[in-house]
Amino acid sequence: MNVVLLGPPGAGKGTQAKLLGKARSLVQLSTGDMLRAAVASGSGLGRKAGDVMERGELVPDELVIGLIAERMDQDGKASGFILDGFPRTIAQAEALDRLLAGRGKRLDAVVEMRVDDEALVKRITGRFACADCGEGYHDPFKMPKVPGVCDRCGGTEFVRRRDDTEEVVRARLMAYHTQTEPLIGYYGPQGKLRTVDGMADIDTVQEEIVEALDGKG
Ligand code: ADP
Ligand code: ADP
Ligand code: ZN
Repeated sequence: MNVVLLGPPGAGKGTQAKLLGKARSLVQLSTGDMLRAAVASGSGLGRKAGDVMERGELVPDELVIGLIAERMDQDGKASGFILDGFPRTIAQAEALDRLLAGRGKRLDAVVEMRVDDEALVKRITGRFACADCGEGYHDPFKMPKVPGVCDRCGGTEFVRRRDDTEEVVRARLMAYHTQTEPLIGYYGPQGKLRTVDGMADIDTVQEEIVEALDGKG
């Protein structure tokens, strides 16, 4: 099955996509991760995207659509995709429908994760990740079990995203409300939209998502 996780910055899309990917053997496609890799590699695309991302604005549609198309071809044998952070505009949603149809696939469900703006700011300003394996953490909601040591790989270096400052988060939230929230009106009438309460703890949200998807694919 192919699923979109829709939600504002810090809603828990990446956290839930990883858990769901493991549970259902689906491949996680995160445009944010792909763009950060492009920026780190210094590619032409990375240079175009970097400044926009630091301002908390959206990268042009054609760039992210191209990234997703490329990745879908690389992972063509996957039993399905979890799209995390894509689509973020109506134009991207329309492109996704075309990309899937062109590969004989379809979008099965869109899970909207609802979290209040003030809680989002706390999620984002507390977010950090393992520098070696990328495992995501939160101070104080998801600290490594042994202080300073990554649960997954034993790494001891951690990083924070450059755009995870309170100021840039406000800009990202604005972009979400104006450019991404209209997707709710796009998917609702298609009968694909499921809404979960993203304010609950990580395991409870995962259970809610699995329930919302049950009976689909
Ligand atoms: P978050 O996890 O906080 O929602 P992401 O990692 O998904 O953030 O995205 C980080 C930044 O990358 C965004 O603020 C935006 O600049 C850019 N970006 C990611 N995905 C998209 C997309 N689908 N369309 C446009 N810009 C994107
Ligand atoms: P997104 O990909 O939507 O931007 P993340 O999955 O990166 O969000 O989560 C943002 C931060 O909040 C991370 O530090 C993560 O560990 C933490 N987090 C995720 N889900 C929850 C939750 N349900 N309760 C508390 N903290 C959470
Ligand atoms: Zn690690």
